[in-house]
Amino acid sequence: MTPLEDAQQFVLGSCPPKPAVTMGREAANGLVLAVPVVSAEVVPPFDNTAVDGYAVRSEDVAHAGEAPVELIVNAEIAAGAAPDRPVGPGEATRIMTGAPMPEGADSVVMVEDSERLGTDAEGVERVRLSATVPAGGAVRRAGDDVRVGDEIFAAGSVITPPAQAVLASVNAQTVEVYPRLRVAVLSTGDELIDDGSPLELGQIRESNKTMLAAMLAETGCDVVDLGVVRDDEAELERVLRSAALDCDAIVSSGGVSMGDYDVVKAVLGRIADMTWMQMAIKPAKPFAFGTLTRDDGTRVPIFGLPGNPVSSMVSYELMARPALRRMMGHSHLTRQHLVAIADTDFARQPDGKVHFTRVSGSFADDGRYHVRPVSAQGSHQLAATASADAMAVIPDGEGVAAGSDVAVLLLRGDQ
Ligand code: AMP
Ligand code: MG
Repeated sequence: MTPLEDAQQFVLGSCPPKPAVTMGREAANGLVLAVPVVSAEVVPPFDNTAVDGYAVRSEDVAHAGEAPVELIVNAEIAAGAAPDRPVGPGEATRIMTGAPMPEGADSVVMVEDSERLGTDAEGVERVRLSATVPAGGAVRRAGDDVRVGDEIFAAGSVITPPAQAVLASVNAQTVEVYPRLRVAVLSTGDELIDDGSPLELGQIRESNKTMLAAMLAETGCDVVDLGVVRDDEAELERVLRSAALDCDAIVSSGGVSMGDYDVVKAVLGRIADMTWMQMAIKPAKPFAFGTLTRDDGTRVPIFGLPGNPVSSMVSYELMARPALRRMMGHSHLTRQHLVAIADTDFARQPDGKVHFTRVSGSFADDGRYHVRPVSAQGSHQLAATASADAMAVIPDGEGVAAGSDVAVLLLRGDQ
């Protein structure tokens, strides 16, 4: 049996990042930057007010906290407008959040600390201000968020929605990223029914492909659904060859275990460079990986996952997901590992394998993550596994006693 880590290293070695491309920032959500982004602009682009209120010279309101002062309102500036006159001694300009600071003013008294006194017979408007503000108070300085030449995002960072907003704020229209993968998914087996028709004895509903397509989407891939392929060599070969022409990777389920009727093995063995593994884990022992080489030399990875639904899920998590993330330029390939507390015994027998026991987990008052196995652990019992939050990693041996530390791998979240 192949140790999990050896199998993972072998697969990752054949799944290098795809060449970077330039694309519009809107299309790049969730993708990884191949080169840093350096800002060509300042944010904010000019000194502006953080509050609605009155732009003043701070010395004019130095004692307004104790004795309110009355100032002449010389102008009003809305956000988007440019100031057209300076603030002189004894004057204030009414100003809205985000509007540029007028010359002469160095601070802003917020509207809550003001009282409008109206306009007198000469047409002079006044305001009473009852707060002291220091020089610079409530002013957002040009460049205090981003300056020209700042490296705002390093190579390797993931473009998140706020990152997209920052790119917009510095007018970075395009980014250089590792492209989203286009991944084909198929399931194999004559017993699989996916059209809703009544089941005859021996038939089951197709379920892996539905799960794997959603898992691929969650990984950030574009999914090409190849459907259910019957146990027919010519058909399987045709479907796989055509997928390899326009997909970056292929994920199939079924037909890789020892006793399998050998259609998948025969076809993949013929058209791709495959390695068939018995991994030292439970579930998901059988696993196949290989590459199909296009005429232009491009190597398309193929992940042959086992057909049992729980095994399929675990195999995707442990083998396919990290490799697909590497192809998309990620440096964090697996989800978060943490040391949890076993709330029950995790008994097992030595069998040379690491067991990935599906668990539900929650953080308790002691700040620790506590886990207990979900109700059924058979590799066909996906209903129980579907409610799992994590997998407890139980090394070969007699298991882990209740109350002990146990390593877990979360099933949600990227890092
Ligand atoms: P296999 O790996 O093809 O030997 O399949 C192992 C078990 O998983 C069998 O009980 C299959 O019927 C079942 N199975 C295979 N593919 C699927 C699928 N796409 N959806 C649900 N069950 C499947
Ligand atoms: Mg099968």
